[in-house]
Amino acid sequence: MFSLMQAARLESLHLARDPDSGLQAIIAIHNSHLGPALGGCRYLAYPDEQAALDDAVRLARGMSYKAALAGLPFGGGKSVILRPAHIPSRAQLFEAFGRMIDSLGGAYITAVDSGTSSADMDCIAQTTSFVTSTTAAGDPSPHTALGVFAGIRASALDRLGSDDLQGLRVAVQGLGQVGYALAELLVAAGAELYVSDLDSGRVQLAVDELQARPVAAEALLATPCDILAPCALGAVLNPATVAQLRCAVVAGAANNQLSSLEVADALERRGILHAPDYVINSGGLIHVALTYQGAGAAAVTAHLSRIGGRLSEIYAHAKADKRAPARVAEALAEQLLYAR
Ligand code: NAD
Repeated sequence: MFSLMQAARLESLHLARDPDSGLQAIIAIHNSHLGPALGGCRYLAYPDEQAALDDAVRLARGMSYKAALAGLPFGGGKSVILRPAHIPSRAQLFEAFGRMIDSLGGAYITAVDSGTSSADMDCIAQTTSFVTSTTAAGDPSPHTALGVFAGIRASALDRLGSDDLQGLRVAVQGLGQVGYALAELLVAAGAELYVSDLDSGRVQLAVDELQARPVAAEALLATPCDILAPCALGAVLNPATVAQLRCAVVAGAANNQLSSLEVADALERRGILHAPDYVINSGGLIHVALTYQGAGAAAVTAHLSRIGGRLSEIYAHAKADKRAPARVAEALAEQLLYAR
């Protein structure tokens, strides 16, 4: 346990169980140098307890880096609730989780993530005030899509010489909450869309509404295009898939796109520009953080609009240092997180 914490430079780990509601939860706080830890709550059926713990720790670390580079006064944390086969009441479970969060006195603030909804956040809000992305606060996904769109334009400018997406071929993997909203923005900007999703209904919707060209899920990464936007899975970029890519830029919403940092070097060697995921997909976190602080829509929009500029700065550093953008982003985040 402590060696895992040490390897991830985790500040603290909190476990709780509540037999009445069936709650078994883990809260991982990675770094609170810049502020209280903010990060979503996953509610998933993990294969075992170690898998749940690893997920919480890995994701908490990512949140610290994301908040730091987004210039937010928050640290990084994440929680996971192990989804049991049966529970007496979902509301009771999330209320019990709210009591766990409350016992930390504001060290951790939660939000929606895989397997949770704004309605679950409303239940958590019954027992703690350290919660955001409730139904009143709104869905962060459209804000993530807006940030990714701005990041795609900045990446196109850097690698293709213009941020005008008119006529560019963009391949979007995953048409979920973020991917579909991004596809709508891309089509409105004149891009030619290639799409895949395991859910054929989502693909058909994009074909009907956005005149997208459908691509089989297994063929999407090798589709010739200008920009590939992974908006589905983690670890989509690994030594095997990098060899297949036929694009100039990879810029999308998915978290933890690289199976390892060495893959960023492989992309660089292939001349493919990769937008570091926790920079380009920070729009949702920006929305969640600013609404938690009571900021209005104009402040969120202004903060979101800085994502493109931040990526351009990272690309400029990367070029000057002859390093992959992901390596530059990591070094910049660590300067902020560990400055004393
Ligand atoms: P989602 O679950 O709504 O959508 C994911 C979509 O990907 C689903 O439609 C699913 O069918 C599809 N998919 C899964 N495997 C696929 C495959 N092999 N090929 C093609 N499609 C596949 O999730 P989301 O909220 O849209 O998030 C997408 C990604 O962005 C995730 O990696 C998530 O962690 C990340 N992200 C989301 C947000 C947010 O605000 N929702 C913020 C930051 C990062």
